[in-house]
Amino acid sequence: MRLKDKVALITGGARGIGLGFAEAFVKEGAKVVIADINITRAQEAATQIGPQAKAIALDVTDLSQIDAVVKSVDGEYGGIDILVNNAAIFDMAPINEITEESYLKVFDINLKGPLFMMKAVSNVMISRGRGGKIINMASQAGRRGEALVTLYCASKAAVISATQSAALALVKHGINVNAIAPGVVDGEHWDVVDAQFAKWEGLKPGEKKAAVAKSVPIGRFATPDDIKGLAVFLASSDSDYILAQTYNVDGGNWMS
Ligand code: NAD
Repeated sequence: MRLKDKVALITGGARGIGLGFAEAFVKEGAKVVIADINITRAQEAATQIGPQAKAIALDVTDLSQIDAVVKSVDGEYGGIDILVNNAAIFDMAPINEITEESYLKVFDINLKGPLFMMKAVSNVMISRGRGGKIINMASQAGRRGEALVTLYCASKAAVISATQSAALALVKHGINVNAIAPGVVDGEHWDVVDAQFAKWEGLKPGEKKAAVAKSVPIGRFATPDDIKGLAVFLASSDSDYILAQTYNVDGGNWMS
């Protein structure tokens, strides 16, 4: 049990990769709070996992909700040891067709959310004096731009940068901040990606996904199971000497 009695807060943990992390953390002995804008799905997820998991409603773009949730989890559990900034949305358009509405939505959820979650949770970790682990979900999309994916790529590049700055500021408090950059992970997120590529590239549903799967050196999409091992490692004391890094879990797509 590598996370015995640790308290983990996972944003966007109602489904997909975040749900996979919640299950894996509980198996390693942690208590997990799934904080998601979709409280119905979050409650279903917590029920599925069992009594070590709990759901709480949170829109990561709302700073007053962030403060209330972090205060409530800290009060109920006596601290927060692990934060996973996992909630995000996907949207795409080339630079000459982006909209302010899309920009505000993508950056509010994908960047502002993680920034202010890190602020609120790191202050709790500092006040409790026992350090902590913060994991930000970046993406291979943050490693280089894509012609049709201007805003999402930029938001994930910003997550990589914010991870580095936060790690350097928080290391003196025993808080390790790192990020994970998945490649392509099967699930509802990729249903959205596939549908949007179909629209922009004139493809049939499923066509983009099939082409992308073939292009991954390992020959397939990831599942949340493929990503969870790194998350457990980064949440555990095994990673105590590691900070400011972004690790690729992408079947060989990006080399760095
Ligand atoms: P997903 O879309 O399946 O799940 C995202 C979760 O975030 C959902 O439960 C949703 O309700 C929640 N959410 C959305 N807006 C929110 C808000 N404002 N406040 C709180 N919760 C909110 O995504 P996923 O595939 O599980 O991806 C998880 C993370 O990994 C994301 O950061 C994503 O960008 C990143 N990622 C995913 C892939 C992939 O191929 N799936 C690849 C690279 C990176």
